[in-house]
Amino acid sequence: MENRYNIERKNIVLVGNKNAGKSTLFNELIGFQKSIVSNKEATTTDPVFKSMELIGYGAVKFVDTAGFNDNSAIGKLRVEKTKDEILLSDLILHIISLDELAFEYKDSKKEFLSFLKEKLTKISKDYKDLKKKYIFVFTKSDKNFSFKDELLKENFLLISNVNKNFWYDRLIKKIIEKLKEDCFEKGLLDGLVKEKDNVVLVVPIDTEAPEKRLILPQVEVIRECLDKNINVSITKPDCLSDCIKNLSKIDLVITDSQAFDIVSDILPKELRLTSFSILFARKKGNIDKFLQGAKYLKKLKDEDIVLISESCIHTKSHEDIGTVLIPNLILKKLGKKIKFEFSHGKFIKTDISKYSLIIQCGGCMMSKNDMQNRIKKAKENNVPITNYGIVLSYLKGVFDRARF
Ligand code: SF4
Repeated sequence: MENRYNIERKNIVLVGNKNAGKSTLFNELIGFQKSIVSNKEATTTDPVFKSMELIGYGAVKFVDTAGFNDNSAIGKLRVEKTKDEILLSDLILHIISLDELAFEYKDSKKEFLSFLKEKLTKISKDYKDLKKKYIFVFTKSDKNFSFKDELLKENFLLISNVNKNFWYDRLIKKIIEKLKEDCFEKGLLDGLVKEKDNVVLVVPIDTEAPEKRLILPQVEVIRECLDKNINVSITKPDCLSDCIKNLSKIDLVITDSQAFDIVSDILPKELRLTSFSILFARKKGNIDKFLQGAKYLKKLKDEDIVLISESCIHTKSHEDIGTVLIPNLILKKLGKKIKFEFSHGKFIKTDISKYSLIIQCGGCMMSKNDMQNRIKKAKENNVPITNYGIVLSYLKGVFDRARF
């Protein structure tokens, strides 16, 4: 089923050995030369990114990476970065050049297709272990290669920069098919509301709100309501009383987590309430794990360190939710000398074992993969993890009425 609710960008990561043609393919896919291409090996050092709209699918980000077989000291660091990108990927394009294949096969005593099957099975095992989708792409198909017909008969993708018309559409089609495979993702509102229900969104327009626009979580919820024929009304906290008076039936109220207490005071107790951050925790994270993690808030002791983890870097204000609001509320509520550290961006490389609790942002700009990797890493390090919306519902005294 086509996933029409998917606004998040899917990461498509190009990997392979040095000089396999990854950067050439990357440039062809994005339509201009962003990655530097040369005949010298290891031209791509750090990953190169390009976001674009894939017609027929939606928003994607192509990522060009350094080659796997770079054994220099710096090369090993580059390979680590490539592995990080694999962990964050939604689809891997594994590039093998016909040069490389011919070189590897020349001493093999096996029949070509058995040799190839063995090679690809070995590579696929790592991707399968990581539960990653992948496509093999054979580059430099304009070169002489004795077994080209066998590859074509087996329906492999053969490409070269001299016959783009032959492969481009096929590759894009294959990428879209793979991205859509088993891709029915849970919607933000699944299990909470149904067609024709009435939803009220409460959006504070404070100093944190961007000028003249809504933020992604709000836009994504509105779009999902439209897609699912759910009626949606939008208001600010100070207009909420009037708004609910004008509606004969309300099935769910969704607020910014910061306004949980104000909204809860205004709403009649029987009305169901949740927050944007909680909706994203349900969709991308593991709500049960986050709820379990929230129980550790009460257990925090003097000198415990809490990691507040945000995925984006943004300027800070005196009302900043992550660096100001949540730490202050925790200190006030618990009265303990708790320390806070902050991480912005990926925390794959961070040593998280010293933390007593991780509080993760809503993750509206994160892929589900990134969120799942964080939860996995927290579990491996025995560190409880929870989420902004859940923590704020507890700190603002609305945990018992909030819908998770
Ligand atoms: S991903 Fe996290 S830090 Fe970035 S905008 Fe969304 S909630 Fe804020």
